[in-house]
Amino acid sequence: MYDLVTDCRICGATDLDDVLDLGAQPLANHLRYPSDRPPEPIPLDLRLCLTCSTAQISATVHPHELFTSYLWVTGTSDAARHYSDTFVDRVDRVLSKLDGIGNKAPKFVIEVASNDGTFLRRFLERGWKAFGVEPAGNIAETAAACGVPTLTEFFSTELADLLQREYGCADVVVARNVIPHVADVHSVIEGLATVAGDRGVVVIEAHSAEVILNELHYDSIYHEHLFYFSLETLCGLCEQHGLYPFDVFDSPISGGSVVAFFAQHRYPPSSRLDEEVRRGRGLETNSHDRWEAFADSAIEHAATLKEVIAECSRSGKVVGYGASARSSTMLNFAGITSADVVAVIDQNKLKQGRLTAGSDIPIVSPEVGIGKIGKSDTVLLLAWNFKEEIVDKLRRSGFRGSIVVPLPRTIRVL
Ligand SMILES: [Zn+2]
Repeated sequence: MYDLVTDCRICGATDLDDVLDLGAQPLANHLRYPSDRPPEPIPLDLRLCLTCSTAQISATVHPHELFTSYLWVTGTSDAARHYSDTFVDRVDRVLSKLDGIGNKAPKFVIEVASNDGTFLRRFLERGWKAFGVEPAGNIAETAAACGVPTLTEFFSTELADLLQREYGCADVVVARNVIPHVADVHSVIEGLATVAGDRGVVVIEAHSAEVILNELHYDSIYHEHLFYFSLETLCGLCEQHGLYPFDVFDSPISGGSVVAFFAQHRYPPSSRLDEEVRRGRGLETNSHDRWEAFADSAIEHAATLKEVIAECSRSGKVVGYGASARSSTMLNFAGITSADVVAVIDQNKLKQGRLTAGSDIPIVSPEVGIGKIGKSDTVLLLAWNFKEEIVDKLRRSGFRGSIVVPLPRTIRVL
């Protein structure tokens, strides 16, 4: 089911240094029904390569265990839907400055791990040709039903060769929040380069190590995320495959991500890219000391959160909000269980009726969850990166109790 690596997956060096041990935890998205057997705990620990500075976990779980029946659907989040428009605007703006692609019509985009097609629909609406590759069969079907041509497959160099022969090179290849997930990362980056060809552009979005460190996103460490890239380590990986960075922008996804543009052609680097690389170096995002300090703060934060929630559960009921993968790491690392939290609300119907992974808290619909709590009760905002959206929903529903927002950085009570 899993292997433990001893060598860096990016550069092959053997000097992986221990940073943070989050204990053995079940797969964060393994949400079982109460009658199912409890999932197997798997070691979850963060390490830093002292040679190439890429942060990564040691366990590689077989991708078929992780992704073939994925329960997270992009379209269920209002913020993700809104961001998909912004994303396409920004890609358009960057492309408009490039010789050869800027004025081409229609342009052709391929998205790797295209989920339910939310982002590709935005491209289609603007007259692009679009094609998705998505390994989770249930989600690929949803995309296809909405008119987004989608192939149910894991992306690799072999598939890239096939796509390139069948459809020709794409003007843009998008890989959002997928590169940190793949153990065979060299094959995937090589495949992106193949599909983009000489002049095409590869757009990679990944949760930013800089934000993880600054805002203490230890909850983003789970088995699906093998890597925690800074802009510099991501560029280092792509350059190994002849893809050179030329632009970048920030994204609000995951509480702070980086979107970087690469091409085989040496497009002139934007001033924004130069600034971001300089800023990352100044903040020592890749230094061992920064990651050690992050680990100490994470341990302290989880212990405090456990105390705060235990206190709230003594004076009233506590309901969690958001059965995300991130909430799984936070609950398990802090040792918060169904003894402290009576239910976790999630609007994704596929998750309702199941139990959170390891902490075994029942997942319920917003209506059922809000129905359980009154003025003296507490909501633990596990999906804290959707704070505005969820707090607004809770207050509009009439909830007047406390809302505990665990992150970014410090615990706050609203
Ligand atoms: Zn390395």
